[in-house]
Amino acid sequence: MPPPGQVRLPDPDAVKLRVRSLISTHWVMIFSKSYCPFCRKVKDLFHTLGVEYSALELDKIDDGPNIQEALLELTSQRTVPNVFINGNHIGGCDQTFQAYHDGTLQKLLGNEKGEEMESYDYDLIIIGGGSGGLACSKEAATLGKKVMVLDYVVPTPLGTTWGLGGTCVNVGCIPKKLMHQAALLGQALQDSRKFGWEYDQQVKHNWETMVEGIQNYIGSLNWGYRVALREKTVTYLNAYGEFIGPHKIKAINRKGQETFYTAQTFVIATGERPRYLGIPGDKEYCITSDDLFSLPYCPGKTLVVGASYVALECAGFLTSLGLDVTVMVRSILLRGFDQEMAEKAGAYMETHGVKLIRKFVPIEIIKLEDGMPGKLKVIAKSTEGSQVIEGEYNTVLIAVGRDACTRTIGLDKIGVKMNETNGKIPVNDEEQTNVPYVYAIGDILEGKLELTPVAIQAGKLLARRLFGGSSVKCDYVNVPTTVFTPLEYGCCGFPEEKAIELFGQENIEVYHTYFWPLEWTIPNRDNNTCYAKIICNKINDNRVIGLHVLGPNAGEITQGFGAAMKCGITKELLDETIGIHPTSAEVFTTMGITKSSGKDISQSGC
Ligand code: FAD
Ligand code: NAP
Repeated sequence: MPPPGQVRLPDPDAVKLRVRSLISTHWVMIFSKSYCPFCRKVKDLFHTLGVEYSALELDKIDDGPNIQEALLELTSQRTVPNVFINGNHIGGCDQTFQAYHDGTLQKLLGNEKGEEMESYDYDLIIIGGGSGGLACSKEAATLGKKVMVLDYVVPTPLGTTWGLGGTCVNVGCIPKKLMHQAALLGQALQDSRKFGWEYDQQVKHNWETMVEGIQNYIGSLNWGYRVALREKTVTYLNAYGEFIGPHKIKAINRKGQETFYTAQTFVIATGERPRYLGIPGDKEYCITSDDLFSLPYCPGKTLVVGASYVALECAGFLTSLGLDVTVMVRSILLRGFDQEMAEKAGAYMETHGVKLIRKFVPIEIIKLEDGMPGKLKVIAKSTEGSQVIEGEYNTVLIAVGRDACTRTIGLDKIGVKMNETNGKIPVNDEEQTNVPYVYAIGDILEGKLELTPVAIQAGKLLARRLFGGSSVKCDYVNVPTTVFTPLEYGCCGFPEEKAIELFGQENIEVYHTYFWPLEWTIPNRDNNTCYAKIICNKINDNRVIGLHVLGPNAGEITQGFGAAMKCGITKELLDETIGIHPTSAEVFTTMGITKSSGKDISQSGC
């Protein structure tokens, strides 16, 4: 018997002889098909490793099918690629990559030359210590790998900087949700009088106290991340990482000192930073979300430019904290979201004090007065004509989207492709770039959701696939999300307009209703404002393909229904579910009115 994995003894058959001869005379032999993406992936791997190989494209030769038959007999594998190194049968694409990731491939490649393959400083280097990078690094280290994470924050134009953990912890989800909470408490204080609370003191908000509390909490999280990396024996470097050649990076620290490291595998998780408008005065005088959450003074009268998640969330809590806030909207609210819901969220904001200037964009920002805050003049022009308007504000918050941090990390040095227009990195369904040893996760991915739990899930699963023998991929479908506007908007699945586009109006049924949260009744707040709807696919058992809710605690409500949608919940199953009374979420278990019926959905009680 030949040793395990070795090809069996020669067969008299001519085709088999030819196959055997190809295997034995070529150091790396790949039986391939020219159109097969898996074959391409394997060839790319050897190419990147700088290893010469021979590939026989079976679809290009007459006796290709016979060779495939012979391979089946020799290796019990019919599919291509079918890879051999020094006569050893490696297998197909998955097995080749598995061998690459566990180091067997390198050993086999090294042995023939009588030398060790290059040994690397690390099994894995991750550039970017945010949501995705940290999750991936800790998982890889748990699986016994030698891991390094580099994290470096380039200060904002105003000089703001922060600690380990990336956007979410320092300048994203965490401080945003805490400021949203500060705003909700203000509303709760107002409601409380109606519930019998009596207090004499004047109630006012102190910006500095809120920021101090939030920043102290963030400081504790930064520290916690450092400790967690140390406990998992992940090497953390507070330095800017940049590729300088295959498998090699340069790390530049705060003092400009350079060090160099190599690794077998790399993960890029560099995230995004706020985009500026590119108009006179924007970088000099305006702030972005990167500055807002640690701003040492109350921003005062504020103009928020932009109309998506960041813009509306920030405008919402600033208004609820008592500031005079205007949002300048270029086109629509919350592009990509269900527009009926987006407009309802916007309408609630307007009735609660947020001013919207629609179809205008700033063209110049002029400083009128220094100060904390100072005073700025904003000149804006209509997107529909030549009308120009001016306004004076203490603070201008630019929230017009974010740019991927991919243009200055040496991707060109190793040939990693990116979308030149938006800097995003395309990857396959295993988060692998076009360079086989380089992966990418999180906000920098092309066509994927920019959310913390998505980055974390992708990072964790990637580490398990690379080093833990797992094949589970990140599922980017039916990801629930919530916009933390004053009236929260949670959703999962398709917006109504997208469902109509994909399935046809005649194949979907929309159930909807207004609802009045019980806690809003005594203060007599905003009846017929909270709204819920589900979109069902009639031709697929009335499966719920879109779920939308506008109301208090929408994030908490949406999470559970997100799980139900992952399990394929149908309208019938929702109807069979018994509600929890009295809650807002129970509204989804009792929805009887279809939009197409045109029936009245207004509520007069909870
Ligand atoms: P990041 O968390 O951005 O981490 C990337 C890290 O890499 C950063 O620390 C960066 O400084 C560092 N870096 C960049 N280049 C280099 C380099 N060359 N070398 C070393 N280090 C480098 N998502 C939600 O799910 N819920 C929310 O409520 C939510 N709210 C948000 C509110 C705001 C205001 C913003 C801006 C975002 C919000 N997000 C929210 C989105 C969420 O923050 C991101 O999706 C998430 O942080 C992405 O994680 P990441 O790992 O891709 O990148
Ligand atoms: P975004 O979703 O890319 O939206 C950009 C907004 O800015 C749009 O309203 C856009 O208007 C507007 N805009 C773009 N260029 C402009 C210009 N030159 N002048 C005026 N307006 C302009 O960006 P984002 O709000 O920064 O959010 C980034 C990502 O972070 C989101 O995709 C989200 O995944 C994540 N995030 C999540 C949460 C959460 O989970 N709660 C919160 C915040 C952020 P148009 O519609 O006209 O293009």
